[in-house]
Amino acid sequence: ENKVERIKNAIRDVPDFPKEGILFKDITPVLQNAELFALSVELFADVLKNTNIDVVAAVESRGFIFGAALALKLNKGFVPIRKPGKLPYKTFKETYELEYGTDALEIHQDAVKTGQKVVLIDDLLATGGTAVAAAQLIERCGGQIASICFLIELTFLEGIKKLEGYPVQTLIKF
Ligand code: 5GP
Repeated sequence: ENKVERIKNAIRDVPDFPKEGILFKDITPVLQNAELFALSVELFADVLKNTNIDVVAAVESRGFIFGAALALKLNKGFVPIRKPGKLPYKTFKETYELEYGTDALEIHQDAVKTGQKVVLIDDLLATGGTAVAAAQLIERCGGQIASICFLIELTFLEGIKKLEGYPVQTLIKF
């Protein structure tokens, strides 16, 4: 059993979460297992080994778990991208479409310096709306997207199409 398969097998399907009809991919069994958690962070580091990176950014809250661990492993700083009203200093905000309604994300205006190469981490790529908004926030700060990395990609939702033009790496596909 290879590394990817071991993590894949630990991801739990939860039906009807957060609402009816949605099959949620629960990554908490991966985090709970010291070996699998370490392995998942290693996989992120592996796919990024030839990528020039200045800083790691991630979207709350599951993105923070992998993003912060990866930043430490790569010896880089960490930039949080959060839901509105959570970040205390001056922010940029991007609004994005959900199936019903809209949502938004914020970044500190000084979180990324002009020209810095940023890797964006999240646990899962679904429709891609979250990642596009996060990438745009990084670019508004003057950062360059060196890579967008996901632990999981739900390929049937075709979120990858929204991320055209960005280098995207996904570790596990369903
Ligand atoms: P998107 O914007 O690509 O439609 O949704 C991706 C965002 O929603 C990510 O931040 C991810 O954490 C969260 N998300 C959506 N569906 C799932 C899921 O089934 N499992 C997990 N772990 N996160 C999900």
